[in-house]
Amino acid sequence: MSSEIPFNRPFVAGKELFYIAQAITLNNLGGDGHFTSQCSRLLEERFRIPRVLLVASCTAALEMSAILFDLKPGDEVLIPSFTFVSTASCLVRLGVRPVFVDIRPDTLNINEGLIEEAITSRTRAIFPVHYAGLGCNMPRIMEIADRHGLLVAEDAAQGVNSYQNGRALGSIGHLGCYSFHETKNIICGEGGALCINDPSLIERAEIIRDKGTNRKQFFRGHVDKYTWVDNGSSYVPSELTMAFLYAQLEMADAINARRRGIYDYYRKALVPLAEEGLLRLPAPCAPEESNFHLFYILLENEVTRTALMEHLNRQGINAVFHYVPLHSSPMGRLHGFTVRDLPVTDDISGRLLRLPLYYDITEADQKRVVEQIGVFFREVLPRS
Ligand SMILES: *Cc1c(COP(=O)(O)O)cnc(C)c1O
Repeated sequence: MSSEIPFNRPFVAGKELFYIAQAITLNNLGGDGHFTSQCSRLLEERFRIPRVLLVASCTAALEMSAILFDLKPGDEVLIPSFTFVSTASCLVRLGVRPVFVDIRPDTLNINEGLIEEAITSRTRAIFPVHYAGLGCNMPRIMEIADRHGLLVAEDAAQGVNSYQNGRALGSIGHLGCYSFHETKNIICGEGGALCINDPSLIERAEIIRDKGTNRKQFFRGHVDKYTWVDNGSSYVPSELTMAFLYAQLEMADAINARRRGIYDYYRKALVPLAEEGLLRLPAPCAPEESNFHLFYILLENEVTRTALMEHLNRQGINAVFHYVPLHSSPMGRLHGFTVRDLPVTDDISGRLLRLPLYYDITEADQKRVVEQIGVFFREVLPRS
């Protein structure tokens, strides 16, 4: 019996414990010590972002974005329905209405051609999601936003160390949000970052991040009292997780290169099945524009998708699907969100299957995954 192939295995760069030990000897385990500022500086320089604030999660960065944009009850924000809950929950908690825009069938990113028809007098912002580490059409989205006076926060949870026309994802909108959750490419367990590309938002962002206090300004000597001045929450991450993160950030290019190899293997090995019309592969992308965050295949319909997933799981291969579109989730229905026609979202979400992709996956394991997909189409599906 061959061993289990997990869906994800958290990547360990090697120097994490060394840096954590350093953090302990520095006698500062709360936030904003040596490693937090090292991580900020590295991200700011590498991705050319005016200010990067490390936070507890991408969800925290998205919540901060909604507060920073001064979104109010009744305001509308355009987002895809084909995304993780945080893109919407950061809005709903403030009484803001997410308005869902359908995705493109090729990249599965928000369809920029459908954005303008979704804009109303209440629309305040767009939160595009860079699915699978491939950028939304940001030039077009920024042009529409400018013309309509809208703010843009990129949900770049999956887009860390991805680029578009030479610019890092997360560095293009007014704000960008990164995730370092253990399921992403660069990790620290739980963590994230808020990329502030509009410098006028920096000062208030520091306050919101620090429980609504002016502690930062106080320590810099800019104000003589440390007190409660604005909205906010506990969004600052611990030095221990930032020490872990720093070891990972040093390996950012090696991580992209390794994931590209894994991605290319799946792609090449699955071409014959795609040519037979049994499955569809992701649209090809320029390698310098992707971080190869995930690999998915599209099956003919939901019944085939479920049968293949069950077959792989029986073989010890953990393939999974996502997302249940937010508009059809229990919370989405409860809120009666403004649902426009989302035919591509409804179609794709029922047919998508993600294959195991993590730094340490062996070629033998990838081979087994591909072989079992072949077995499914030759032997299992015809019998069902
Ligand atoms: C992972 C993810 C998030 C949430 O990230 P956390 O760091 O776990 O809060 C948000 N949006 C998208 C698109 C994601 O993939």
